[in-house]
Amino acid sequence: MAEYLRVFPRYGLTRRQIERTDRLRRAGDWAAACVEAGIAVECTLAGLDAGLRARVEADLPFFAPDLLRWHAIRMRHHSRLNYTSHELRDRGDELTLPVWVRADGAQAVGIGVRSVPPYRSRLHIAGPGEFSAAAGLDETPEYWDVRHAPALITRCGGRDPHAAHVYALLAAGRTAEAWTAAGFDVDLDTHHEPHPTRERLFRANLTWNLGDFTPALPVLAATVRAYARRHGVAAVWLTAERAEPVRLVVDRLDAERPRLRGEWYGSGWLHAVPRLPVMLQDRPPDYIDLLAGRATAADLHPLVAAALVPDEPATGPRALHLPEPAEVPCGDEIHHVGATLQVPHPAEWIERELALHALGGPVPGGCAGVVFRWRAGRRGLPEPLEGFREELRERIRYGEADTLAALRDEGLAL
Ligand SMILES: [Zn+2]
Repeated sequence: MAEYLRVFPRYGLTRRQIERTDRLRRAGDWAAACVEAGIAVECTLAGLDAGLRARVEADLPFFAPDLLRWHAIRMRHHSRLNYTSHELRDRGDELTLPVWVRADGAQAVGIGVRSVPPYRSRLHIAGPGEFSAAAGLDETPEYWDVRHAPALITRCGGRDPHAAHVYALLAAGRTAEAWTAAGFDVDLDTHHEPHPTRERLFRANLTWNLGDFTPALPVLAATVRAYARRHGVAAVWLTAERAEPVRLVVDRLDAERPRLRGEWYGSGWLHAVPRLPVMLQDRPPDYIDLLAGRATAADLHPLVAAALVPDEPATGPRALHLPEPAEVPCGDEIHHVGATLQVPHPAEWIERELALHALGGPVPGGCAGVVFRWRAGRRGLPEPLEGFREELRERIRYGEADTLAALRDEGLAL
């Protein structure tokens, strides 16, 4: 599925959880803050070598586990990150996103995230083969550090008209123009194959990869150059939706304009070229949703909203409230029934209707039918009750800690 069409889950952390986590962090209790944010702590700093431990300790006062988990749940649905997990030793369905990585790359402290709700997460020490540098958060502290959280917009290209222009070209399918506008020489035509079939295969793959791709394109040239300088390389390959048989390569990183081109997956040249970490390459899932109109500031973690949509109040993530009562045809009248199950009938009448059904009678209609379907978890409730019940079920499944209690305070009947 194309990344821009992918629906990223937006449940799993409530505003209250975020606020409590923040208080614990400010009080210096990072382990309790992790637990509050839904992250089990399965490591001690004593298990780390001195260099890595010093870095972790320096960052801990600013480490926001709620922000990390917010992003981690979405990244779990990011196909390009998931395909990095194929390179790892069998870890069941857990993918570890390394947050702090030792200088030699042999050890990391990272968040392991399961692939299905409630996205069970744990902070742990990972050894070689247990994490992928391509899923690394160590170079993107805006995903987990309160000092860097405002820079999330910089990762997307900022708020300037040029970035908007590049994204508009991408959205319009004018891919080559977008890359050119973003400062790349686009070289999709000079690769020649002796056999026409192979030539067509090469071009078709290149086109698919480019069309199904969500890079943070306005800043990608600068990102790639900075990465190449840090790591002493002159080319990188990019992670597209389809990994094979043709990969997207950016080279000529020491020239005025870097060059985008394709390369056969099996080519010997490619083996010596590193992959640009996906976290550096792509726009954050929340930005994909914002561009697509699937999210507003009120849907987002407050630090994410403040970074990406600073003109709107950061009131999110949106809480679930009881819906308006639904219209229910009941006998000759229309009654209104909500999730409090208050109905304009004596309790004895409702009990009588339910008892008749329990004794072999038909499913009751009207208000009694709503009460029956609600209590029995049966489908067929009128909207908006059906939608509300489905969303509540999802939120509980995703591990929201206090949504049910807050709704009970509002009068939810269960
Ligand atoms: Zn009624």
